[in-house]
Amino acid sequence: MSPHILSFNQGSEPVPLIDLVEQHQLIRDDVMAAVEQVFDTQHFVLGEVVDQFEQEVATYCDSRYAIGCASGTDALMLAMRGLGVGPGDEVITTPYSFFATASSIARVGARPVFADIDPVTFNLCPQAVEAAITPRTRAIMPVHLYGQCADMEPLWRLAVRHGLAIVEDACQAIGATYRGRKAGVLGQVGCFSFFPTKNLGGAGDGGVMTTDDKDVAQKLRRLRVHGDAGGYQHIELGMNSRLDALQAAVLSVKLKHLDNWSTARQENAIRYTLLLGEQGLMSRMDLPAIDSDCGHVFNQYCVRVHDGLRDQVLAGLRARQVGCSIYYPKPLHMQECFAYLGYREGQFPESERAAKESLALPIYPELGIMRQQRVAEALADVYAEIDASRTQSVRRAA
Ligand SMILES: *Cc1c(COP(=O)(O)O)cnc(C)c1O
Repeated sequence: MSPHILSFNQGSEPVPLIDLVEQHQLIRDDVMAAVEQVFDTQHFVLGEVVDQFEQEVATYCDSRYAIGCASGTDALMLAMRGLGVGPGDEVITTPYSFFATASSIARVGARPVFADIDPVTFNLCPQAVEAAITPRTRAIMPVHLYGQCADMEPLWRLAVRHGLAIVEDACQAIGATYRGRKAGVLGQVGCFSFFPTKNLGGAGDGGVMTTDDKDVAQKLRRLRVHGDAGGYQHIELGMNSRLDALQAAVLSVKLKHLDNWSTARQENAIRYTLLLGEQGLMSRMDLPAIDSDCGHVFNQYCVRVHDGLRDQVLAGLRARQVGCSIYYPKPLHMQECFAYLGYREGQFPESERAAKESLALPIYPELGIMRQQRVAEALADVYAEIDASRTQSVRRAA
């Protein structure tokens, strides 16, 4: 162990990448009361509590309709089924996202077609999307990665010109905005996840779809209950993908805090700029870029580490008990299960480079100044160690 680590660790608390316990303690009474109410009614699947929560989500996202379901992954699949996307169709999306973005396309029988990302925002590059359009393209699935909306205007133009649907993978972006409009109303259907680590996280899995289209909403409601049009009339093959009342009850409590939490995340991001600047680290990494069209809600705060040092910095932070992670280490076109798509390494250079350079630092709302200061100091310490060992090896070589 280097002397840096020894001196650094003395008296310092670990900093987790995310701490859900702290948040829960602040809202515990309200959450537990809501849960008890559901138990008292014994109405666990869909029902009034879910209806009410769906209404709250629709209001929050400025959409006409919101339809709860079992997960963000299911939301994506249901959205495509709801829009009639299936076998023989192509859906253009990013290879630099969580796996479910592309798997949901494949699982409805369509073909994921990848287009590279913009290196500054990590979101879909509209020019690359345009180049990927074929006569079989039916939809575009932009991902609002890390909590920042994709560059939608050029995608809208492409969608109109080529008659394509847009399904937003907004799983990381509830509350994010694009030119003042909320994520979830920037395409035909918006898909959200309530996985516990998302900005609005449930007590388990959950998801929701938003849309302004009455017919699509009706179809989505049907598809989540086995395609049942009512009275056991199954007019199409649906899924069993419903939102539990317990989840809706918890989420309803948490939704009231969401804007405050998003503001806290944004303040943390601003503070990182100051703290990392103070530590002289600005030349060693790119901090997240905020598109002037966007309100970024920072589900993740991912820096881009220069000079091929990402894995060393990751290991150094972990040795100093600072939580960090890689989103995502392997682009989707390189995943074994997508080998049949025939993509090769080198085909999406920006996604591949991002996978080698990106590093997520703690950004959760309750992080606080002291812990953030510690993250910045740990980073500086890691670089001091890396530089010292480099100087040594240069000397040895001389
Ligand atoms: C979390 C996530 C999903 C999947 O959501 P689940 O609720 O875990 O199924 C899909 N896409 C992105 C970008 C995500 O971050």
